[in-house]
Amino acid sequence: MGCGPGHAQGDGNRRLSSPDEDQHKPATRIVEAGRRPEWTGSVVNPPVWRGSTHLYADSADLARGRPNADGHFYYGRRGSPTQWALADALTELEPGAAGTVLYPSGVAAISGVLLSVLESGDTVLMTDNAYEPSRVMAKSLLAPLGIETRFFDPLDSEGFAALFTERTRAVLFESPGSLSMEVADIPALAATARMKGAVSILDNTWATALGFPALSRGCDISLMSLTKHVGGHSDLMMGSASAGEALYTRLRLKSQALGLVVSPDDAALALRGLRTLGVRLERETSSALTLARWLSSRPEVAHVLCPMLPDAPSHQLWQRDFIGGCGLFSFVLKGSDPAGRARFIDALELFGIGYSWGGYESLVIPFDPARARSATSWPPAGWNTQDRLGIRLSIGLEDPQDLMRDLSRGLEALGSA
Ligand SMILES: *Cc1c(COP(=O)(O)O)cnc(C)c1O
Repeated sequence: MGCGPGHAQGDGNRRLSSPDEDQHKPATRIVEAGRRPEWTGSVVNPPVWRGSTHLYADSADLARGRPNADGHFYYGRRGSPTQWALADALTELEPGAAGTVLYPSGVAAISGVLLSVLESGDTVLMTDNAYEPSRVMAKSLLAPLGIETRFFDPLDSEGFAALFTERTRAVLFESPGSLSMEVADIPALAATARMKGAVSILDNTWATALGFPALSRGCDISLMSLTKHVGGHSDLMMGSASAGEALYTRLRLKSQALGLVVSPDDAALALRGLRTLGVRLERETSSALTLARWLSSRPEVAHVLCPMLPDAPSHQLWQRDFIGGCGLFSFVLKGSDPAGRARFIDALELFGIGYSWGGYESLVIPFDPARARSATSWPPAGWNTQDRLGIRLSIGLEDPQDLMRDLSRGLEALGSA
């Protein structure tokens, strides 16, 4: 892919696919993406291209200088073919994107994007179910710069429209919310934002472009923590943001001004992870559905928060807008006995206890979002207020029957105080 005459050097992170290439299905694109012969040479994967300095041939060469554009090696901070191959692959997987900027973590992608589209005096609307470090940025990063953050209920479209003022420049969405799993009507909310002149940013870490092609659903910037599904092996930190031409240029310039760069070693690992992303997501989705269904049938469980389940409140929207799922979902135990929840977690043998998700191995973590909400309540309206203890599962590639037996052990431990 990307080796036709139109693919001269100098195009760096930009999408240059021909109409033919657009007809390939995602599973094929994921194999081909980013593998330009000028970057791979005669091997399959782009080599880890380490380097900071370009050496000039002589003084005249130095005086002529080098193009400081994507796809020309200028200085290590501007990336090398290894990072370009990853960025290019992510661009090709996101329909509508003109380019992708890589960041040293998912959090750096969020802050880098917000700083690219907001200025002092602006207001940003942030979904109330946002990943906690995103919420923290409102106070720690944006407020000192004179940028105001207003939180909104992602399920209240009317209330959302009413929050806009002439100073609202951007909206940060996360759907499903990565703990409580609400699915927002992104096409409708993003259309409102566009009408009001604000940039729609989606934290698309849960679905990736394979499950939710964000730009074709009305968002302007799709960002991901590559640490999760794309890396897929719990051994790297990285983030990305993909956008159309004008916003991509803004993201790139801001990222260069901030001096952000990812290591070529990590980029090569992320590319390796990316090649199996599709099959991992399919397997995790099917195991997660099996386990979510089974948990729904258990008397100890009050709610299973998984939009992929047919009777979930958010299932209709999920069914309408998403092409694929993943292995991350949550559930809420009946009652409010934190010691019981701890016994549940400690009884598990196959689930590691840890933050993060999207790796090949299953993980579990307790969560209590009550204090991290300001525009919505936890537990949500209509629930028994006793039922508030959340548990999030990241389902990996283990056999789902083994995972089910492990979760059974946990549920048995609940009652054994
Ligand atoms: C983990 C996560 C991030 C941050 O990613 P890091 O790579 O850990 O910095 C952002 N958004 C969501 C939804 C996440 O789960």
